[in-house]
Amino acid sequence: MKSIAVLGSTGSIGTQTLEVVRGQRDLKVAALAAGSNVSLLEAQAREFRPALVAVWDEARARELQIALGDTQTRAVSGMGGLCEAAQLSGVETVVTAIVGMIGIRPTLSAIEAGKDIALANKETLVTAGHLVMGKAREKGVRILPVDSEHSAIFQCLQGQEYAGRGVAGGDGHSMQDGCGRDICSELAHAGSGCADAKAKQQGGSAPLTRIILTASGGPFRGRKREGLRDVTVADALKHPNWSMGRKITVDSATMVNKGLEVMEARWLFGVDFDRIQVVVHPQSVIHSMVEFADGAVLAQLGAPDMKLPIQYALTYPGRRPMAGERLDFAGIGSLTFEEPDMGTFGGLALAYEAGRMGGTMPTVYNAANEWAVAGFLRGELPFLGIEETIRAAMCAHRAAANPDLDAILNAERETYEFLVASHSPTGR
Ligand code: NDP
Repeated sequence: MKSIAVLGSTGSIGTQTLEVVRGQRDLKVAALAAGSNVSLLEAQAREFRPALVAVWDEARARELQIALGDTQTRAVSGMGGLCEAAQLSGVETVVTAIVGMIGIRPTLSAIEAGKDIALANKETLVTAGHLVMGKAREKGVRILPVDSEHSAIFQCLQGQEYAGRGVAGGDGHSMQDGCGRDICSELAHAGSGCADAKAKQQGGSAPLTRIILTASGGPFRGRKREGLRDVTVADALKHPNWSMGRKITVDSATMVNKGLEVMEARWLFGVDFDRIQVVVHPQSVIHSMVEFADGAVLAQLGAPDMKLPIQYALTYPGRRPMAGERLDFAGIGSLTFEEPDMGTFGGLALAYEAGRMGGTMPTVYNAANEWAVAGFLRGELPFLGIEETIRAAMCAHRAAANPDLDAILNAERETYEFLVASHSPTGR
């Protein structure tokens, strides 16, 4: 029986994780955490009987404790509660499905306590990838990708010489041969990719030459900037292929999501930015691809269903049966590919820039995006204002190299302060 904690259990990934658990008899939920949706959290607690539930707000946690008075479940609150859920004794894997940078501390706490991470919360890796991957190596825990693109890459790397980089840590698993952890670790700290490490080690070309991240292009694919001026929140929330939380759906519409995924891939697979390419693939059938030095390309295909990567992260290295839609290739007919339009969707170009600059710049990119998306969802900022906000925040920031957690959180706070000041009526 594998015991798991689900942080962000009331969201899109969280609820789908619990669906996966319902289908697997050897998965047990020991802790659940959510922001404010106490009624759903109570229902989940009654169904899965976890030892612990965490809610952000203290008063709501007290309400929940009273409501769950007839059960053995304890309710806790705040960041302390989240970290307690992440570190709960007996838990083997923590699913990080919280949205936003708030996921950093609980993720680091879980790693500190030796838990494997099924990682959905991409903002954590984008902003603190060097800390998360470094701590994972130190503690020998695995970071198993839940994001469908990164799970696809991870799946494509199974059995490949390069595959050691697909997860951080995890002694005793077959994935650990190939590109050695230590070399990857050294080079990751030196800001270089593992593919380069292998090349140096062998004196030849790297076996993994390219990661190809596919993007649906979102609801506004094909539009030019003029056509994006007046788009509404409802327009942006109509994703053509995937059903997801509101923030990530807006991120997909701006293609900032793909930018975050580029930075996420850099940390998960240790590949430098020149080797991470984005290609628009509107059918979302190919979830991503890897190319090797001999020109061979491996792709992972499937129906757009997040339960597959979630289940794979929870049952890895096993692959279990799963009900659901199957691909009908004749019905699909053709798969198409396009260059991303980075002129129109400038958030993607800015992500490469932030990622290459490194240090605190990805934090500023991410924090400005979180701030702007929240403003857009409240109807206070136009759609194109999201990209403009990110650009302005990045221009105003001087990146500090190799930041620790405090420096990352400071960069986040300073970004918010800058944005509040520059958007106030007397703004700069
Ligand atoms: P949702 O908005 O659907 O869910 C977010 C979850 O985080 C909710 O359970 C919410 O609780 C919880 N949460 C928010 N704030 C807090 C807080 N302060 N303390 C504790 N819990 C909190 O997001 P998604 O499920 O779509 O996305 C989650 C993460 O996974 C994101 O980082 C996203 O980028 C990533 N991801 C999502 C994919 C998807 O298909 N949805 C695909 C790949 C990655 P409550 O509802 O109670 O407020």
